[in-house]
Amino acid sequence: MYNIALLPGDGIGPEVIKEAKKVLYAIQERFGIKFNFKEGSVGGAAYEVFGAPLPDDTLNLVKDSDAVLFGAVGGPKWDHLKRELRPEQAILKLRKELNLFANLRPAVCYRFLADSSPLKNNIISGNLDLLIVRELTGGLYFGTPRGRENTGQTVRAFDTMVYTSEEIKRVARVAFEAARKRRKKVTSVDKANVLETSKLWREVVDEVSKEYPDVELSHMYVDNCAMQLVLNPGQFDVILTENTFGDILSDEASVLTGSIGMLPSASIGEKGPFLYEPCHGSAPDIAGKGIANPIACILSAAMMLEYSFDEKEAAMCIKDAVEKSLELGYRTYDIKEGEGKVLATSEMGDVIKKIILGL
Ligand code: NAD
Repeated sequence: MYNIALLPGDGIGPEVIKEAKKVLYAIQERFGIKFNFKEGSVGGAAYEVFGAPLPDDTLNLVKDSDAVLFGAVGGPKWDHLKRELRPEQAILKLRKELNLFANLRPAVCYRFLADSSPLKNNIISGNLDLLIVRELTGGLYFGTPRGRENTGQTVRAFDTMVYTSEEIKRVARVAFEAARKRRKKVTSVDKANVLETSKLWREVVDEVSKEYPDVELSHMYVDNCAMQLVLNPGQFDVILTENTFGDILSDEASVLTGSIGMLPSASIGEKGPFLYEPCHGSAPDIAGKGIANPIACILSAAMMLEYSFDEKEAAMCIKDAVEKSLELGYRTYDIKEGEGKVLATSEMGDVIKKIILGL
């Protein structure tokens, strides 16, 4: 029995979590794996009821679970709130509390969706299957001191980019381990020509690579990597990078796949519970319309089966069902082609469920 904390959140979060749960019930039926779901309040929805984006009850629920499946948080309704009350703080706090220092984002362009990518067919077709491993709890987003000073003449704002060798080592190991299960290539991305943190990053990654002689390591500057992702994405297997660079590069990689609605992610640490969530946000522009693509959330559930529960066969079954649904021509509006039929969120979930159950 696996205890799963479901945190639907705001906007399309609850809509896509519902479909992932539907698919997990199908996995339960087919593989006899038992799931125990408990729902917690998070984000703007939690702020409305409890006055905080991550109430203690939700944090306790999460800590008592084996894994967390997270929808999305945020929306214009809460944009005016001060920083610590904003829905997005829930994710940052969860990462810190659970010590989730590595974010894994696979970006795959499915054969049947090559036309949805903004890249030309000859660049993208069968040529995008990479994994971004992003450091998640250090660097610019957490470094101190940070703040603002009014010097009378002008206003000065500052952030601090800071990394320790230990922080770099542990995320580098995640990347090398992941590469071992893939095509055995790691590209470490930094700005070592300018930044001290990047110089240390490069030294430590070189050191860690000695533990993995079977994995090929190369280094690339972040500005070049941003270009290479659109020029020749097929050269990458695993991209390892620090927090801020990873935030930007993973969003760039995500649009290459055709739609952000297709991309899952996992945030992992030394020990669970780990957190799984679609890469997209709460999409306020389409929330409540029943048209969101649930595949990113469904594939996040597949990553949960693989990384938290080692249920590889069940995880593969979900991935195969998603691919099959695309091959059969089923599309949500964000990946629609021509005049083909467009499915609602729940219809897409039904199709994937039926394929899993062989119906
Ligand atoms: P977004 O990812 O919510 O939306 C970007 C665009 O992609 C929108 O046009 C949206 O309609 C579309 N889109 C996103 N997911 C989709 C899906 N599953 N199916 C179809 N179309 C989809 O990003 P944003 O607009 O920058 O942010 C909206 C809110 O979400 C903000 O409040 C932001 O802070 C928050 N956010 C939350 C998370 C998270 O919860 N992890 C991540 C990013 C943004």
